[in-house]
Amino acid sequence: MKLLYCQRCGDIVSPSSRASQPRTCECGVHAVWWRDPYLGTLSVFDKTRRRVTYLDKEGDRRTTTAKEWGSTCFILGLANTWLNHPGDRLSLEDYKKIVDEIPDSYIFKTVRSPAIRIRPGHSSDTKYEDALPGQEPNPPEDLGTVVDFS
Ligand SMILES: [Zn+2]
Repeated sequence: MKLLYCQRCGDIVSPSSRASQPRTCECGVHAVWWRDPYLGTLSVFDKTRRRVTYLDKEGDRRTTTAKEWGSTCFILGLANTWLNHPGDRLSLEDYKKIVDEIPDSYIFKTVRSPAIRIRPGHSSDTKYEDALPGQEPNPPEDLGTVVDFS
């Protein structure tokens, strides 16, 4: 299970079970949706972030990336085996067993936790989008001047 956590308003948003049906956090800045709910591929749109083009220190034209924008949301990942584990109260041993049984390819296993927090794009199945589903992205605004994003 993946959820969106908005750092601006504190809302936690569960994506619709249907593909390409965005849900928005309380403040309206972030929208989240499954590209494919069966594969678990998730997209996030941040309406305050516009791509811009600019000339870097070497004079090369570049377009900003989500990393350069500065993200104000996280994706929360909850292991399905944890959510669906039998029992009303889990012991420390239960948690260790849940993590042990998670395949090595999952971030849960790497950090040995059934719950993780990542930025969109920091896993192969999450990313930022330049537009909501079915919309064309706005062209990048051309700043035309040197901008230091470092
Ligand atoms: Zn929000």
